[in-house]
Amino acid sequence: MLNIVLFGPPGAGKGTQSAKLIEKYGLVHLSTGDIFRANIKGGTELGNLAKSYIDKGQLVPDEVTIGMLESEVNKVPEAKGFIFDGFPRTQQQAIALDTLLEQKGTAISMMLALEVEEEELRKRLLIRGKDSGRPDDQNPEVIQNRINVYNNETMPVKDFYTAQGKYKGINGLGEIEAIFNDLCNAIGETAQ
Ligand code: AMP
Repeated sequence: MLNIVLFGPPGAGKGTQSAKLIEKYGLVHLSTGDIFRANIKGGTELGNLAKSYIDKGQLVPDEVTIGMLESEVNKVPEAKGFIFDGFPRTQQQAIALDTLLEQKGTAISMMLALEVEEEELRKRLLIRGKDSGRPDDQNPEVIQNRINVYNNETMPVKDFYTAQGKYKGINGLGEIEAIFNDLCNAIGETAQ
């Protein structure tokens, strides 16, 4: 199986590149942010709980996020592989993901990290907020909070995969196609 963690700060281009990668490699795309937003739209209990955190730019608690991710993975036993987009965001989530995949006789193949500097992220998120309808993309304070949460709580996940020799940094600035090409090259280098 090819199991990719697509990593990077909010606004780095994870969603855009995931859409292209799943098409090329036939993978299942699991975006925890998208799943939370679908639950918010559907008015589920999970959605109501997640909304209280998402609106402030905070992380949804690990127990909730991990439980949800596990059930999504279990829904597709026939998957050839996964792109995890926006997950794991804490070391506890990374450990839980390793355990889950190990139980299935597989593992994370690599972490691909889109690297984009903060000023560019702030610009991109405010532009995206104009059409995305996402409240968390429209408020500069919430955007800054998400960037801070990424730097403080999520960055350690990079060390987790670096220690496993699975980390690959990709420049996330430039044309979408050029970045996609760099991602494909990185996958080509390590895919078994
Ligand atoms: P995203 O669409 O990945 O930018 O996620 C939007 C929001 O959903 C984040 O700011 C968090 O509040 C929440 N969220 C998404 N993924 C996770 C995760 N893995 N752990 C905790 N919260 C998450």
